[in-house]
Amino acid sequence: MTPTTTITAIATPQGRGGVGVIRLSGPNAFAIAEALTNKSLPAPRMAGFRQFKDAQDEVIDEGLILCFKAPHSFTGEDVVEVQGHGGVVVQNALLARLLSLGAVAAKAGEFSLRAFENGKMDLVQAEAISDLIDASSEAAARSAVRSLQGAFSLRVNEVLEQLIHLRLHVEAAIDFPEEEIDFLADGRILTLLEQVQGAVSQVQKSAKQGQLLREGLQVVIAGKPNAGKSSLLNALAGIDRAIVTDIAGTTRDVLHEKITLNGLPITLTDTAGLRETGDIVEQEGIKRAYREIEQADLLLLVYDLTTDDDPLALADGFFHQRDPKRLLLIANKADLAEQTPHQDELNGFKRIILSARQGEGLNTLIQAISAHAGYQPEESTFIARTRHLDAMVRCQQHLADARVQLVEFHAGELMAESLRLAQHALSEITGEFSADDLLGKIFGSFCIGK
Ligand code: GDP
Repeated sequence: MTPTTTITAIATPQGRGGVGVIRLSGPNAFAIAEALTNKSLPAPRMAGFRQFKDAQDEVIDEGLILCFKAPHSFTGEDVVEVQGHGGVVVQNALLARLLSLGAVAAKAGEFSLRAFENGKMDLVQAEAISDLIDASSEAAARSAVRSLQGAFSLRVNEVLEQLIHLRLHVEAAIDFPEEEIDFLADGRILTLLEQVQGAVSQVQKSAKQGQLLREGLQVVIAGKPNAGKSSLLNALAGIDRAIVTDIAGTTRDVLHEKITLNGLPITLTDTAGLRETGDIVEQEGIKRAYREIEQADLLLLVYDLTTDDDPLALADGFFHQRDPKRLLLIANKADLAEQTPHQDELNGFKRIILSARQGEGLNTLIQAISAHAGYQPEESTFIARTRHLDAMVRCQQHLADARVQLVEFHAGELMAESLRLAQHALSEITGEFSADDLLGKIFGSFCIGK
């Protein structure tokens, strides 16, 4: 469906700035811009200095006008950029003028949506724009740019090609029933299927790194009062955010701190000290601590080495279940206990002995956190979302079904259906799936191939 409206929105952040840009996109963009300036427009892609005027021909602002003729624009439609001055009042006056000239206020993401609908970018690239804008670390920003430039889409499309190639073989086998059994049994189709499964796994691995970069890791610090939780948060964050005192029960609420460790965005949460207490406020803090603990990707259970606290008993008492994959034991106050900071194991749990106050052993902890997340920063990481990972999981399930149909039942038709669903799931990532395209491709190759 071709949109018929011309949309407009302020493209730069609201506030004071040297320049403020308002964008117009749609069939009337040029006409509206002409009415705004009461003058002919500069040639496409050439900046022209103009006055921007209201209905009474009074000048609202002055600045540059840039025109992009369809389809050579961000949205694929006629686009105009009105570059005035960056003040809230003047920008709103310009916007109001454009609306009065017939433009419609753009909804969130509508420029990108139009770009997608007009084939200027796929879904992954459109998503990468907002991920780039929202990136919380330099590594995340670089990965978003790689996705925007098509690195992720390219990987998905390569796997799709392999999958379509496999489907062609299976469809061919079905079409020639007298040969079907041999064809399905000769091992070639299984080899192709395994190659596709391997390729999807590879993309899944990279995408998981990308999702980590985008969404970060939720790390919760928990333990008894005075174990040194706030000191640990401060040491990791490098700033004095949490209140450090030696009065038990100081951190009564939950404190969040966003940091990056080795480029990996982390939300660190300091929780109220876990203990039995009659204090109602403290009880509420402890209740919240449990909520955070349940949602954490990783729990740092801090205990004081100079006491005879048993961290595993604490884990049992407060967490009811112990999961070595989600729990790191932090033995704090190594300086007082006269122990050298290091990493070891306690009953199958990784344990890091450190001194939060002296900052010793923190690097070992940072490495353990990265390792826990499976985070391996590499140059080729692209940004990815849960939606993409879900689509790949579904794709893998359909591929596994296809394998069962092939190996156990020699059922060509059912295998073909599973492969169709696998392709559908994978295509959801770039948003490019179209049944007509696929049929055209299948039958086009079929005639030549057979
Ligand atoms: P929380 O209640 O678990 O948040 O504990 P705090 O971080 O407030 O620390 C409690 C007390 O222990 C404070 O007096 C800290 O200075 C002290 N402390 C924390 N970590 C260390 C450490 O590694 N070494 C020493 N010597 N003291 C520490």
